[in-house]
Amino acid sequence: METILTVNNLTKKFNFLTAVSDLSFTIKKGNVYGILGPNGSGKSTTLGIVLNVVNKTSGDFHWFDGNTSTHQALKKVGAIIERPNFYPYMSAVENLKLVCRIKEVPESKIEEKLELVGLLERKNSNFKTYSLGMKQRLAIASALLNDPEILILDEPTNGLDPQGIHQIREIIKKIAATGTTILLASHLLDEVEKVCSHVIILRKGVKLYSGRVDEMISSHGFFELKTEKENELLTFLQNNAAFGSVKNENGLITAFLNEPLDANSLNQLLFDNGIILSHLVKRKESLEEQFLTLTKN
Ligand code: ADP
Ligand code: MG
Repeated sequence: METILTVNNLTKKFNFLTAVSDLSFTIKKGNVYGILGPNGSGKSTTLGIVLNVVNKTSGDFHWFDGNTSTHQALKKVGAIIERPNFYPYMSAVENLKLVCRIKEVPESKIEEKLELVGLLERKNSNFKTYSLGMKQRLAIASALLNDPEILILDEPTNGLDPQGIHQIREIIKKIAATGTTILLASHLLDEVEKVCSHVIILRKGVKLYSGRVDEMISSHGFFELKTEKENELLTFLQNNAAFGSVKNENGLITAFLNEPLDANSLNQLLFDNGIILSHLVKRKESLEEQFLTLTKN
């Protein structure tokens, strides 16, 4: 699968405050990623760094295959990281015509994108008459004018009423269905669950989890395992029906359960198969519960 963005050991310090700490992740083409974390966990800072509006302290990132400069790469990125701002006394179409000129794309794209975000009927209304939800949808249309490889959104539903939230989420799903990669930051677990295929969970700038959303919400929990016999362990887990997906990150093996299994039984089972563990942790809570605990108050 094609890689859109690679982030390696990224750190951002504001004086004594570490906003992003040793963060690594990759964004693959066609997926919808959520950066999920409570307020102040470093989501916007991370987006700001990869969009070249915030300077990193250390670590690195590169777009696409790593051979394009960030400046060139960002021409293939559509991003909305601030409250949408357009000329208030100009219509949606007039505003988008200006964007087309700046981005050097044909004006013929305008109707297509306005249709996508459900604003075609209001295309001639002045921007200032739009509701906050409509403004946000116009910003999405604008970001899509040059058919970017990836759309980046920071808290896309903040401040919207329930109907506005629903509309934005449906539009994001529609855009994803056309194959556009999406990266969105959100402090709302249910938003990420509803919209995203993958999630990166941050807490105080530190990554707690990254992986598929469906694995995160798996209700039987998962094991963290380490052994010197990595290959034997991986084979064992992959051939055992109690386990769903299994991943190996630098020797820390995470195995998600399809059915209940306690740590004692697993330890005995592996021992009987000649696999001695140096690390065994059962996370009883699903990550969803952990996230909720962590974001309480
Ligand atoms: P999030 O988007 O997850 O809410 P941010 O990335 O905005 O979090 O912020 C992460 C941390 O960095 C917070 O503690 C915030 O106060 C701090 N921070 C962000 N921007 C600045 C800045 N320009 N100067 C100082 N501290 C900042
Ligand atoms: Mg933020």
